[in-house]
Amino acid sequence: MVQLSPMKPSVAKLHSIFKLEAEGRYENRAVIGGLNRLLDWWEAEARLDGLSEEFIQLVRSRLRDYPRLSETSRCEILQGLHRRLVADGGAPEFTFPPPKSAEEARPTPAEAGDVNYRGSRDRASTADQGYPRHSSRSRQHAEAFKTEGQPPALDAPVTVLPHVGPRNAVALERLGIQTLRDMLYYLPRRYDDYSRMKPINRVSYGEVVTVIGTVQSVAKRSYSGGAKPATEAVLNDGSGTIRITWFNQPYVAKHLHNGTQISVSGKADQYLGRLVMNNPSWESVDREQLNTGRIVPVYSLTANIALTWLRRILNQVVSYWAPRLHDPLPDSIRRSAGLLSLNDAILQIHYPDSWEQLEAARHRLAFDEIFLLQLGLLHQKRNWKSRTGRIFDTPAEWIEGIMQNLPFSLTGAQQRAMEDVRLDLASGTPMNRLIQGDVGSGKTIVAALAVAMVTRTGAQAALMAPTSILAEQHYHNLLKFLAGSGSPSGDGDEGSPLLQPEQIRLMIGASPEGEKGEIRAALADGSIKLVIGTHALIEDPVTFSDLELTIVDEQHRFGVEQRAVLRSKGTDPHLLVMTATPIPRSLALTIYGDLDLSVIDEMPPGRQPISTYVLAPLERERAYRLIRSQVEAGQQAFIIYPLVEESEKSEAMAAVEDHSRLQSEVFPQFRLGLLHGRLRPEEKDDVMARFRDGEYQILVSTSVVEVGVDIPNATVMLVEGANRFGLAQLHQFRGRIGRGAEKSYCLLIPDTPDAVENERLQVMVQTNDGFELAEHDLRQRGPGDFLGTRQAGFSDLQLASLTDVPLIDKARRHAQALFEIDPELNQPEHQLLASYLDRFWGGKGDVS
Ligand code: ADP
Ligand code: MG
Repeated sequence: MVQLSPMKPSVAKLHSIFKLEAEGRYENRAVIGGLNRLLDWWEAEARLDGLSEEFIQLVRSRLRDYPRLSETSRCEILQGLHRRLVADGGAPEFTFPPPKSAEEARPTPAEAGDVNYRGSRDRASTADQGYPRHSSRSRQHAEAFKTEGQPPALDAPVTVLPHVGPRNAVALERLGIQTLRDMLYYLPRRYDDYSRMKPINRVSYGEVVTVIGTVQSVAKRSYSGGAKPATEAVLNDGSGTIRITWFNQPYVAKHLHNGTQISVSGKADQYLGRLVMNNPSWESVDREQLNTGRIVPVYSLTANIALTWLRRILNQVVSYWAPRLHDPLPDSIRRSAGLLSLNDAILQIHYPDSWEQLEAARHRLAFDEIFLLQLGLLHQKRNWKSRTGRIFDTPAEWIEGIMQNLPFSLTGAQQRAMEDVRLDLASGTPMNRLIQGDVGSGKTIVAALAVAMVTRTGAQAALMAPTSILAEQHYHNLLKFLAGSGSPSGDGDEGSPLLQPEQIRLMIGASPEGEKGEIRAALADGSIKLVIGTHALIEDPVTFSDLELTIVDEQHRFGVEQRAVLRSKGTDPHLLVMTATPIPRSLALTIYGDLDLSVIDEMPPGRQPISTYVLAPLERERAYRLIRSQVEAGQQAFIIYPLVEESEKSEAMAAVEDHSRLQSEVFPQFRLGLLHGRLRPEEKDDVMARFRDGEYQILVSTSVVEVGVDIPNATVMLVEGANRFGLAQLHQFRGRIGRGAEKSYCLLIPDTPDAVENERLQVMVQTNDGFELAEHDLRQRGPGDFLGTRQAGFSDLQLASLTDVPLIDKARRHAQALFEIDPELNQPEHQLLASYLDRFWGGKGDVS
């Protein structure tokens, strides 16, 4: 027989409130203002009754969000708490009736706790008419909630909210917030954990904690160091007192009076042996606790937006809307992927109940990003495949003939890439292929063969490179290959090249106007078959008579729009893009899901391996000695400096200084060129060209040194501040050398002799494999280095970490499976998803 202890008053009250609420079917009416309101007074009473702090905190955390919960969750929470009341507090047993059925239980606006939409609703509905933002889907969506009047629609502007005027709207817009929906997705930058609550007498020094108490005294006080007076208050919670100081915040005093109950969160400290807290977060206990007493969100701010204000405004919208969102993910996917509902995810990402919940919320929202990204890419791929491309059926013997005349034979990987391209061109749908291959793996020849396959029928091709010097290099190589005297001919007809030299032209920004005009005319009438150039190709009003192949080299240097412009100059021409940025496969499948992928993972034979060394800063003289001996032997060297400061200006200054020091003190006998980000493109090209032509023996450069440029004579790459670069980028630098027959050296000098850093750099010594290095980078530095301008194609991924391979795989698998069932998202249960997809892709139909 259990011995019942007499019920304490605070237990009895809780019991009767729970009972009342249960009988009212969990409509949150048992306490005026909502059940969370009882916390205001109940806690103090419970402490007086000596209930355990643990139980008080439990009640607090469970009831805090009561208004936002569904009836079912409310019922569960009350039952759970009540079991404790029975077991520990001697409350009588009580059978909780079930909540109303899910149909009846749809929340109504009146239940949005202390969020008052009444004032705004009228404004909202008039504003609604002015807004063309309702897709038919979101209208259905909004109507589902039309229980009494129309709540502000998710796409309504922020000004429908009470206390948000036009000036606030301007400030919010700077944060990217224009609509209520934007608010739901304005995610915290970080969180402060103020969930630990303690009576004042149990607080220890140094602890981050929340205390609740009554203001005993308030005063403003001037400090010699402070620009403005401070507010000082003494807080008492019955167990002890703590002195709080808000420096430079005289206005706090206006809100505090003796007897005010406040909740204060921050780091406790001691001053002259007394417990103090400086500049804590605080708020009155009469309000919903948004700044103290829980894990609180910290949002990025801008001028004229205060954190507490933003929390209040965002919380209004989140608490109202999050429970009402319809989840765009089909239930089956959500369940099998083990994801939180969107409702919970949005609630928890703003005000997490625990770190675990936060993680689950992040996981869910990150899943959405990858899932939508994949769906969009699959969709584009399908669109692309549904178009017609001209068929270029290249006979195998013709290719054989060309191969015979090449000065080298293709590597297996080059062969496979070429075969991929040949099949694409013969398929009848436009090619949309990415060739990925490490620096020096020989991508150009594959592009050249593609050009030959297309131009042999008389059609035109265009190749775009990111810089003039690269374009020039391609021009010379392709001219030699396609129109040189020893150039291969497809017909075994020795001596008749594939193209005439005048059918291949170079068009760069610096080309004289007259020449550009002439090229334009010859492209329009079809007499030029291949044009190679820079952005000039797309900026100029160039038209083609029959453009069938577009090639983009170093594609990460271009935006998706630029590629689209080039492609639009033909009618669904074939597209080949090339990149030397090695991307791990999982990542490539994610961000290039719309492209077919060929990987050239094999180097041409006979390359001298590059010897890589990590030197301590004190060994710099050794590096200089090596450079001297190499240059004296007729070779050339690069010296790279990292971007030391944020600003390009100081970067340029540092480079200029280093250059003149090296020139006058270290290498007075040699000619040193200088390349940095502040030079104009023509100046950069000019420096690179002089280096290529041997006018400079040493090139001092910041990290702007161009990718892809071939300087076969360069045998030394010295990288200063090597620890500041990613391995993939170091590998790119290293790829600038070792292109000739001579032995080459890559020397890495970190800023400090830091052991850990040097260990990371040792990977460079151990492997020459760009993919392996990229994997290392991805693990250590995240994906930023890989994304480049690709990101510009879709709204940024806010949460998804591209290093989270399991998540990516999961999202990709589910996207693929859904796509197979309903590629156009036509089924009714996928309508909402379709609108999320549109929004995610920002209306951009074409990203490839
Ligand atoms: P990347 O992939 O970096 O663009 P390139 O296409 O510029 O590389 O090729 C680098 C160098 O390798 C060029 O000088 C090219 O002529 C040479 N090359 C390409 N393929 C082969 C091969 N199969 N055998 C020998 N040399 C090759
Ligand atoms: Mg290249």
